[in-house]
Amino acid sequence: MLRFWQKRALTGVVTEHREFEDEIAQIRSVLKDEVKKRFAGSLAIRMVDSGSCNACEAECNALSNPFYDLERLGIRFVASPRHADVMLLSGVMTFNMFHHVMDAWEQIPEPKWCITLGDCSVMQAPFTKSFAIKGPVGEHLPVAWHIPGCPPSPEVIMRGLLDFLRSFEQK
Ligand code: SF4
Repeated sequence: MLRFWQKRALTGVVTEHREFEDEIAQIRSVLKDEVKKRFAGSLAIRMVDSGSCNACEAECNALSNPFYDLERLGIRFVASPRHADVMLLSGVMTFNMFHHVMDAWEQIPEPKWCITLGDCSVMQAPFTKSFAIKGPVGEHLPVAWHIPGCPPSPEVIMRGLLDFLRSFEQK
């Protein structure tokens, strides 16, 4: 028993990473300011899966949990493209999903932006040559920003969104 308490005292809480939490808190505060500045405090994202393995979506889902909590920063994932400012597109552009993706894109009101998520969407994942694939997303849609990774972690996605918002300054 004594050994257990000794080990516990020496190890601490392994699931807590103070540095990581501070970093996330910092990104959150800047992200909130940028959403306020560029989108009047409300950025609506329509996530579309054009043929992913679902890992990119799983990481995106984490953005809605109480730890990352993007809704508090004014960023919402919406169910309809008609309510969206941004299309967040994950996965390779498959033949079967191509028309649905284009349809969703058409329904997003102007001004609109397409952000690609994960390496698949730019064909860096190992699916390059297949009859079922329509080629990189950039060949079909005006991609405003790309968030790399396979899959990108929630932190990387937050940084990607932040960089996307900051890119408005250069335009
Ligand atoms: S980029 Fe990676 S994680 Fe994302 S959909 Fe493609 S294979 Fe899956």
